[in-house]
Amino acid sequence: MTKANGEDPKTGSRMERIQQGVRKRTLLAKKKVQSITKEDVKSYLLRNAFVLFTVVAVILGVILGFSLRSYKMSYREVKYFSFPGELLMRMLQMLVLPLIVSSLVTGIAALDSKASGKMGVRAVVYYMSTTIIAVLIGIIIVVIIHPGKGTKENMHREGKIVQVTAADAFLDLIRYAPLGILFLIAGKIVEMEDMGVIGGQLAMYTVTVIIGLLIHAVIVLPLLYFLITRKNPWVFIGGLIQALVTALGTSSSSATLPVTFKCLEEINRVDKRVTRFVLPVGATINMDGTALYEALAAIFIAQVNNFDLNFGQIITISITATAASIGAAGIPQAGLVTMVIVLTSVGLPTDDITLIIAVDWFLDRLRTTTNVLGDSIGAGIVEHLSRHELKNRDAEMGNSVIEENEMKKPYQLISQENESEKPLDSETKM
Ligand code: ASP
Repeated sequence: MTKANGEDPKTGSRMERIQQGVRKRTLLAKKKVQSITKEDVKSYLLRNAFVLFTVVAVILGVILGFSLRSYKMSYREVKYFSFPGELLMRMLQMLVLPLIVSSLVTGIAALDSKASGKMGVRAVVYYMSTTIIAVLIGIIIVVIIHPGKGTKENMHREGKIVQVTAADAFLDLIRYAPLGILFLIAGKIVEMEDMGVIGGQLAMYTVTVIIGLLIHAVIVLPLLYFLITRKNPWVFIGGLIQALVTALGTSSSSATLPVTFKCLEEINRVDKRVTRFVLPVGATINMDGTALYEALAAIFIAQVNNFDLNFGQIITISITATAASIGAAGIPQAGLVTMVIVLTSVGLPTDDITLIIAVDWFLDRLRTTTNVLGDSIGAGIVEHLSRHELKNRDAEMGNSVIEENEMKKPYQLISQENESEKPLDSETKM
């Protein structure tokens, strides 16, 4: 090509080629982006609609809760406002008992006694070791940070008893229906005591619990998963988002159980024989977040009472916090109740639980999320450790007893199957 502007033709054509290359690549990249926008984003949004909806509900709940706080609703009004959230809780709780019984029965039935015995031992070893690690983190963090400096005299105490009315009985009538996490969170924020009561010590206590839970949930559990399975823990945790957000919203690991099953089986593809066997037990006895919190809170109460704990008493707290977390039910604020065991074991005043009630609704959500994470990571680890027994069992049976992939099938595949069944029907008729 001859250049009109007098450029060297060689350099000119090289430049053109480079520019053409750049244009081609840009076009290709644009096409790629376009195809991602059309198909992938749509299917991504569809696939994750539930997770996105749950996360958005939490965010809206927080915004709505804080914006309604200025209206100074009465206690009863707050109860009515958070009623849709309560409905969701009741619905989830309603599922729990049949779910636990049926999943344990199918889980154990799908395994021979040797395999289920081994799996059970692995699960219990995991539960015990992670709970003890959590208790130790709680003790170390509260001793280092020492949030209970000073006295408890200027701390706020909380506790109230409210009369039941006819309206309560009426609301009882329609408690079966499903409604949102949004109202659960917004209701709690509206109900929350004035932030002013959360003084220096209580704020420090809250921060200490958060740090302890974060160390356990973000460092210890993922590291354990990685060391044992050699798989990326964050991919596994990514599949659990809906369960974690539900735990945050409901403060109940039992109520979250149906969602935990769904995430583990459908997204993380954990073998159903494992989930059905270990999850119901885990949700009931494995509560790392609660154990950490119980040990930490007991030592905090000792600190505000200027009560020096000796080594023996710290060991007693570790043991009783572990036991109290095993004994706590997977329901909101159960840990606060079983705390009494920990406090009495070392002679601390049980009345002082009222010092930490103001922030417990919030900390309960965080420890429940940690509990659910601990159970789920446990299921992943137990599945990995039991992979040989599961394979052997598959080989023995010819295939898996549990309906493989039935729930995992994308909707499209199922409808394609239905389509392919149609001609057969017509052939038979002919
Ligand atoms: N709410 C927690 C749970 O359901 C128990 C607790 O109060 O610590 O896991």
